[in-house]
Amino acid sequence: MTIHQKPEDAAVEVKAPAGLREAGPRLHPETLALHGGSYRFDPASGAVAVPIYQTTSYQLPGTDGADKLFALEAPGHLYTRVSNPTQDAFEQRLAEIEGGAAALALGSGQAASAFALLNLARAGDNVVSAAGLYGGTWALFAATLKSFGIEVRFVDAADPEAFARATDDRTRAYYAESLPNPKLDVFPIGEVADVGKRFGVPLIIDNTAAPLTIRPFDHGAAVVVYSTTKYIGGHGTSIGGAIIDSGRFPWHEHEARHPNLHEPDPSYQGKTWLEKAATIAFHPYILRARAVILRDLGAAISPLNAFQFIQGLETLPLRIRQHNENAIKVAEYLRTHPKVARVIFPKFQEGEAKARADKYLLNGHYGALVGFELKDGRDAGRRFIDGLKLLYHVANIGDARSLAIHPATTTHSQLSEDDQLKTGVTPGYVRLSIGIEHAEDIIADIKQAIDAA
Ligand code: PLP
Repeated sequence: MTIHQKPEDAAVEVKAPAGLREAGPRLHPETLALHGGSYRFDPASGAVAVPIYQTTSYQLPGTDGADKLFALEAPGHLYTRVSNPTQDAFEQRLAEIEGGAAALALGSGQAASAFALLNLARAGDNVVSAAGLYGGTWALFAATLKSFGIEVRFVDAADPEAFARATDDRTRAYYAESLPNPKLDVFPIGEVADVGKRFGVPLIIDNTAAPLTIRPFDHGAAVVVYSTTKYIGGHGTSIGGAIIDSGRFPWHEHEARHPNLHEPDPSYQGKTWLEKAATIAFHPYILRARAVILRDLGAAISPLNAFQFIQGLETLPLRIRQHNENAIKVAEYLRTHPKVARVIFPKFQEGEAKARADKYLLNGHYGALVGFELKDGRDAGRRFIDGLKLLYHVANIGDARSLAIHPATTTHSQLSEDDQLKTGVTPGYVRLSIGIEHAEDIIADIKQAIDAA
């Protein structure tokens, strides 16, 4: 178990690594992407790049030290299912870039959203979630968590008070995606975080579609989850996920609301997770997620994938800028095409949705997902996909390459047509994930595929 940041540091908005912190002002994401976290070089070799610690186990100190390690009373690694130095370097850097206090990296984004909730909710409890979700998350919430006895109550994200109305004594968390596709209507993070504060309910935001473009912690989210498979990895090579704790949610003030943190855990000397975390100056939510949920359910990230995600982080700010700038050009082009019925892109929204886009999306960017419908509907949408030459037809987003998919027959096909519509998937909808190629080349491919559709 490694301990990288102390709770008292959590009030500092974005922390620089020790050596650089003395340099003065808050560091920018571009700098944290390369220097965030305490790793500077490998003490054994002097290597500047983070080594891939491809090991399952670690030589334990004498029996005296080993029992302290196992009791989580001393820092150190025991077994790579639970922690690993490459993973640790990735977690620290990701937490700093996000403006959070501590992170847990996992084997996939699905594991991250499942663990974020299983860390708080038990059978008989409930979670209130926005209905606009990635299809895999929807299936997890509507079927698998239900079979575990955890009810997920879906509400309309456009109405923050709907979260209050769905809350009762057994509500353990609120959950939403910051920029849910396919609707691409930005979630009211601050408004719902404020509702949660009234009840002691933390807001968990899946920020997969908008790293650096939306900053959930600046608006009161308690926890951020990522599928790092997407923009953070950035090259379509590795599946991974992460949970980041803002370090600012007052778990200790809400005893009845959060029994998992307030009740004694017999597997750790009968201490509560708040007590356990306090004795080693760590964050209780991430500590429990690692020491209980990851210990018991696995879904560990491999050291090689943790390394790949560190590589991804190093160029994330650069790539995000290019993704976003290209997406604006593509969306604007699509609006001018006579065969296009509708373009779904935050820049073109109106009313409340546009106000939220302007409030939460930074730097004049709108994300890099663009949806559209062709006038000739479902069949034209399918012909468009088959006509693409440069864009890939894959079920992923956030790759450096531009991607396209027809959600109704792929990513959302396990949902009933009614449930598809609830998540915003109409039969003719085409989703583009705009990459970092030259914008003119992306547009030329889209044009020829639409013309032929
Ligand atoms: N959250 C969102 C918004 C996603 O788009 C995805 C995957 O597409 C996931 C979570 C699940 O992530 P993973 O595929 O890494 O398990």
